Amino acid sequence: MYLGRIVEMGDRESIYEQPAHPYTKALLSAVPVPDPREARKRTILKGDVPSPIHPPSGCRFHTRCPIAQKQCEWDEPVMREVASGHFASCLLID
Ligand code: SF4
Repeated sequence: MYLGRIVEMGDRESIYEQPAHPYTKALLSAVPVPDPREARKRTILKGDVPSPIHPPSGCRFHTRCPIAQKQCEWDEPVMREVASGHFASCLLID
């Protein structure tokens, strides 16, 4: 969930093993790995969390999304099924 909107939902295995939304990917990249030999590429989100009272236009995550495109500023993504029972809302997901 980001700024009051569900951005991804599905079962635990599907989301942990194949996260689809950039916000979910960033959150999961911050989870510590118990094995120090196993490196994980961390995604650091830039900027501050916008006000939920006056959320950004288009995709609410576009001001911090590491892969945002111009269209993300005005198009609001809808939830789409990315795998059986696994849904995410991102304009870049087919
Ligand atoms: S719609 Fe755009 S800004 Fe929103 S998560 Fe997808 S790529 Fe990022």
